[in-house]
Amino acid sequence: AIQITDMNKWYGTFHVLRDIDLTVYRGERIVICGPSGSGKSTLIRCINRLEEHQQGSIVVDGNELNSDLKNVDKVRSEVGMVFQHFNLFPHLTILENCTLAPIWVRKVPRKEAVDRAMHFLEKVKIPDQANKYPGQLSGGQQQRVAIARSLCMMPRIMLFDEPTSALDPEMIKEVLDTMIELAEEGMTMLCVTHEMGFAQAVANRVIFMADGQIVEQNEPKEFFNNPKSERTQQFLSQII
Ligand code: ATP
Ligand code: MG
Repeated sequence: AIQITDMNKWYGTFHVLRDIDLTVYRGERIVICGPSGSGKSTLIRCINRLEEHQQGSIVVDGNELNSDLKNVDKVRSEVGMVFQHFNLFPHLTILENCTLAPIWVRKVPRKEAVDRAMHFLEKVKIPDQANKYPGQLSGGQQQRVAIARSLCMMPRIMLFDEPTSALDPEMIKEVLDTMIELAEEGMTMLCVTHEMGFAQAVANRVIFMADGQIVEQNEPKEFFNNPKSERTQQFLSQII
């Protein structure tokens, strides 16, 4: 579904991503971890062209991300993203936040958009908040709304950048269960997180990044029990 080949990115003169080769197959759930500043957010932001790469290629379901804006639009219509710091529209209710883009961008009939929004708000366990405004919700609740809102666009691929960092522990499990359900429905997921329990439960592959490179990747059990590189061992010893 996603094919990244020999990809490099610079911020000015700073070489932030180095020789990234990564293929993500349909239905895969990939967790990306690594120290702060290693380029995790930059990598996933490149996948929907929130950041541009300068070398190599990124192809999403056959569409190469390049200066052709038609391709970029196609990829963005398939790829949902949930950020660490989400941005709900403060002047719109939770329900309106979830129906706005489906109605105006996708031309989904209003009633269908509302039904869809309620379905996903139930999935993230906050249908009762639908008519409130973001400012009336806790940070954790707002983050779940951000996930539901993204799902309302019916993406085929979901990118998460530390989605659980603001959630209560019991909410982390609910989001995790939602994501497993999504995976079973065929959703492809890339998730940056420092929640290693989350990675063990959800991922079928864990990727470790350091200094803009993919240092190591493996299925979770092997990754956590038998990390190969010294850099990975050092990282895991600090966070587990
Ligand atoms: P964290 O775990 O703290 O979120 P990260 O692995 O997501 O870190 P990135 O946000 O991808 O790291 O940043 C990688 C490097 O690129 C960092 O050194 C950061 O300072 C730098 N960087 C990020 N965004 C920009 C930007 N817009 N301009 C210049 N440098 C940037
Ligand atoms: Mg980051």
